[in-house]
Amino acid sequence: LFSSRPGEEQNMNVTVPNNLDAFWMPFTANRQFKANPRLFVGARDMHYRTHDGRDVLDGTSGLWCCNAGHCRPKITEAVQRQVATLDFAPTFQMGHPLAFELASRVADLTPDGLDHIFFTNSGSESVETALKIALAYHQARGEGRRTRLIGRERGYHGVNFGGISVGGIVNNRRHFGALLTGVDHLPHTHLPENRMSRSQPEHGAHLAEDLERLIALHGAETIAAVIVEPLAGSTGVLIPPKGYLQRLREITAKHGILLIFDEVITGFGRLGTAFAAERYGVTPDMITMAKGLTNGVIPMGAVAASGAIHDAFMTGPEHMIELFHGYTYSGTPIAAAAGIATLDTYREEGLFDRAAELAPYWEDALHSLSDARHVIDIRNEGLVGGIELEPIDGQPTKRAFDAFLAAYEKGVLIRTTGDIIAMSPPLIVSREQIDELVGTVRDVLATLD
Ligand code: PLP
Repeated sequence: LFSSRPGEEQNMNVTVPNNLDAFWMPFTANRQFKANPRLFVGARDMHYRTHDGRDVLDGTSGLWCCNAGHCRPKITEAVQRQVATLDFAPTFQMGHPLAFELASRVADLTPDGLDHIFFTNSGSESVETALKIALAYHQARGEGRRTRLIGRERGYHGVNFGGISVGGIVNNRRHFGALLTGVDHLPHTHLPENRMSRSQPEHGAHLAEDLERLIALHGAETIAAVIVEPLAGSTGVLIPPKGYLQRLREITAKHGILLIFDEVITGFGRLGTAFAAERYGVTPDMITMAKGLTNGVIPMGAVAASGAIHDAFMTGPEHMIELFHGYTYSGTPIAAAAGIATLDTYREEGLFDRAAELAPYWEDALHSLSDARHVIDIRNEGLVGGIELEPIDGQPTKRAFDAFLAAYEKGVLIRTTGDIIAMSPPLIVSREQIDELVGTVRDVLATLD
């Protein structure tokens, strides 16, 4: 699989390092992992190569980021060229052409009206940036009382303090103190009556009405923004019920509250459109993104903001900084080069349309697991799938984690969150590879207690 490109063979003679202690691994069961490490040493297109010489089919686009597959030559070459041409350039009071070019290219993909792009280095930073812009925007317009932020249960918005405050994952919050004050959460949209729905579930639009309750409780004039993932991935693939996002948009617009879509995983074709906003026909005031922006090759994120938000800052003396926010690497040249080459690749290969075309096949393949062992729910949209397993009594998450380990042994990478298997293959996946992914999950579930 790896030698499929002419003249190419990576040096993959890598042995397991003697000492695995120093690297404190993120979101990992460190002791379990280090007792039996799983290392990748190479990647090509749809596959990883492991340290023990096996090819593993990537069912998760790395971490939802390598939407065009791995080590794509155009992106690799762009990065190589850029690192030898202009390695770093500040974007504070200086600039370089690629950051402007990438911003325009991203603005072409976002919904009309969201044309101002602020660069960050990750999804978490994009979230912090969007929340800060929301607060500063209201202040700039003389509505400084609008400081409340509203997230949602089972929301994931990265791991920084703003993100975990508006996020709704208990384990990500409870160890870290008081978090931001003035934050509320809408109910999540995962209803039992929607089990085994295909694409958008029928029930649950009414859950958006809870926002009216929070507005009545606090007063609209105290609320800055609502942030939601249009489709929640990290908490187990929760698809928005029909009409839900529309309702959120209506209520926020009516009350002057900003609506932020966190599209860190739904951006760049995952749902068959550039952004979920387009897929669902709802335009928020800001979109956060990362991951697929550079195909995961170089860390980069961004926030797309509306003209109204951007223009609210463009007042005051022209020599003054308008927004006191930014990162050393905001729009850094190598990431910008990777981003441009990534967007070229998506466009030249028509990958967003490809995801849309494959979605019905993907849906049927996933739902063929409805009679597989332990499966209690299946959810899908675009090229995303969630398969919920019956938890083992007294041992939550164990069954799904065992499925992940067994699938890896069988040469397929899946991800689990709680008792849910989540899959999001690169948009270059073939029908045969979809069959392989789903078939492996079926086989694995059959062997598990
Ligand atoms: N927001 C959402 C919706 C995400 O899914 C993620 C990561 O999965 C993040 C934010 C955080 O992104 P990062 O890990 O790049 O900080």
